[in-house]
Amino acid sequence: MELTQVADSVYAVTQLGKPTVLGWSNSGLVDSGDGLVVDTFWDRPLTDELLGLYAGVRPERPGTLVNTHHNVDHTGGNSAMHGARIIAHANCAAAMQVEAGMHGLFQALADADPATLEPAQAALAEELRPFDHASVELELPTESVVEATELELGGTLVRLIPMGPAHTDNDMVVHLPEQNVLFTGDLLFNQCTPIGWAGTTQLWMDSLDAMVALEPEVVVPGHGPVCDTDGLLGLRDYFAYVLREARVFFDRGVAVDDACRQIDLGPYGEWEAPERLVFNVQRAYNEFAGDTAATIDAADMMSRAFALKPALKPAR
Ligand SMILES: [Zn+2]
Repeated sequence: MELTQVADSVYAVTQLGKPTVLGWSNSGLVDSGDGLVVDTFWDRPLTDELLGLYAGVRPERPGTLVNTHHNVDHTGGNSAMHGARIIAHANCAAAMQVEAGMHGLFQALADADPATLEPAQAALAEELRPFDHASVELELPTESVVEATELELGGTLVRLIPMGPAHTDNDMVVHLPEQNVLFTGDLLFNQCTPIGWAGTTQLWMDSLDAMVALEPEVVVPGHGPVCDTDGLLGLRDYFAYVLREARVFFDRGVAVDDACRQIDLGPYGEWEAPERLVFNVQRAYNEFAGDTAATIDAADMMSRAFALKPALKPAR
């Protein structure tokens, strides 16, 4: 992991260039007032390392943690900040509790002999193996946010802005208007194919427009390298492209997985995990059919994404 100063008193830690894709998220530190951390990492060892980097900038323990949404790669290390104010969207705590039921299964998969697993399961196990799932303790938010909220942090203005639902039902971004920095959580996957667990493609595109309208100079995505508004516009273009392509196949009655095999990904074939296309096309089909509240079977979608991998059209 790498610490970078992105503005006056504002830092980001990124986890780039890993051999696997899933769960290598980004975090932020605002070194002002009592100090504020944006998101922890998947497990305790990674989060302890993260907080060690922050201690190099600011020896005093930060007093506030903001979780951008509930997924374990953004909250799994929360217990390392036990005693801090933990602020999240009002729907975050319930979603964390549901996801906590998965940690045992994740550890079992990571520990399993790959030879005993189906190929799709073995691929998921490889993605899960870098993390210490047993170290994840549920540490819930202590305060919840339902509408745009301002914090004052030693004279630095911090805006917490709920958006979506787009990636989850508890998406929230952290905006520092004076420093022109935006922490997007997973409302931005930069150079990485996104997955939406709740909400709609349209609300995700609307969220990207709303983030662009904030005119940040520095954008720290949930995953991928630090960027500027071009990163936000790039993801917006991806969704518009997928909607356009998916519509053609939907209208012809082509099944989702067959459509994914035929869609030319163009430049998006270079993004990480292009096979996640199937999540986005499935969601588009659900929306074309008028079903904007379809639940996503994560295991089924991941195995379909795995099956799509060898069939993906190479980038032009
Ligand atoms: Zn994430």
